[in-house]
Amino acid sequence: MKEIILIKNGELALKGLNRSVFEDKMLKNIRRRLADLGKVTFYKSQSTVTLYPDSEDFDLEQAVERIGKIFGIAAYSRAAVAPKDFEQIKTLCVEYFAQSIYAYKTFKVEAKRSDKQFPLKSPEISREIGAVMLQSYPFLKVDVHNPDLVITVEIRDKEAYIRGNQLKGAGGMPVGTSGRGAVLMSGGIDSPVAAYMMARRGLELCAVHFAAPPYTSELAEGKVKTLTEKVAAYAGRVELYIVPFTKIQETIRDKCPQEYFTIIMRRLMMEIAGTIAAEHGAKALVTGESLGQVASQTLMALACTDDAAVMPILRPLIGMDKNDIVEIARKIDTFETSILPYEDCCTVFTPKHPNTKPQLDEVRKAQSKTDWSQMIAEALENTKVEVIG
Ligand code: ATP
Ligand code: MG
Repeated sequence: MKEIILIKNGELALKGLNRSVFEDKMLKNIRRRLADLGKVTFYKSQSTVTLYPDSEDFDLEQAVERIGKIFGIAAYSRAAVAPKDFEQIKTLCVEYFAQSIYAYKTFKVEAKRSDKQFPLKSPEISREIGAVMLQSYPFLKVDVHNPDLVITVEIRDKEAYIRGNQLKGAGGMPVGTSGRGAVLMSGGIDSPVAAYMMARRGLELCAVHFAAPPYTSELAEGKVKTLTEKVAAYAGRVELYIVPFTKIQETIRDKCPQEYFTIIMRRLMMEIAGTIAAEHGAKALVTGESLGQVASQTLMALACTDDAAVMPILRPLIGMDKNDIVEIARKIDTFETSILPYEDCCTVFTPKHPNTKPQLDEVRKAQSKTDWSQMIAEALENTKVEVIG
């Protein structure tokens, strides 16, 4: 039995030129994400894209799983292809649901007929398919209002499609339709979720991680790579920059007032990430900050961080509770990795009494007593990059 995948666009509010940019990008992203599974042909019609595998050995199962993580898709489903012969359509329909039908108690059939030459009209198609299904699977009941399973039979120009319930797509906008951003990726719970959320709004991402060996271990770096891979299943290809941050952190410890350790560290992170982002063509930074979560995420602390950034900082988690963030982390499968107990550079020299109401001018003054430019240049020079996804 030949199977295809039907894909429905999201963001229906988009109109005109935006709409075709959105669709082209979505198609390109699907192509790229499925490239290693074999050749496919796409057909576009209105808001549906039909994906035809070109060869028998195309891994449809794997393709469906990946499609569920591609942004811009509202819904999708597998479908069986039938010739336009009603007897064959009926037989194929019974056969197609033979495995899955036992999960359902009630069903209805919806017929769509874009070929008006087809000898049966839509209500007749529905009725006859319904009858043959009831005959083959007598435990089923028809429920036209709230069925467990909707069987859709579409009669198109050259062939017919039979499909069951649609699956909900990842939603959002195709990655790349909102430009580029650089996510500051720690090994924690929040930053991978922030990355996922901004990719969902169409941002193409690179990631910047600050490592402080030997205070932070190889394992911590591996963890960040794993998290970036999991994010890349949604965000597509992500370049991960790993910045050696030890010398800067030691200098902060030795030269800056303890109450400002974290805030100065975060300012320097923004400066370095901003430079990497700009080189990468990114127009925004993304962090996993959430208002009030820790001392460096109070309003005044955030203001001090913003002051050091050369581009906007997007903070998609700013108004979210930890529980809600964890829920998303579980959904995108980053949670179990995030809670592995490796040290992050943020926790290396945390002061006992951080200032939760830092005054910007005082922080600036404290920071400016040291010349950071050489250290920043060195950190940038020794930054490693790895392509993930
Ligand atoms: P997370 O759970 O993502 O680690 P957090 O709640 O632990 O966040 P912080 O450690 O204060 O909060 O970090 C806030 C944000 O700063 C992170 O979400 C991330 O965007 C960025 N960040 C923190 N540490 C690093 C790091 N080592 N490298 C890159 N970015 C980092
Ligand atoms: Mg953290």
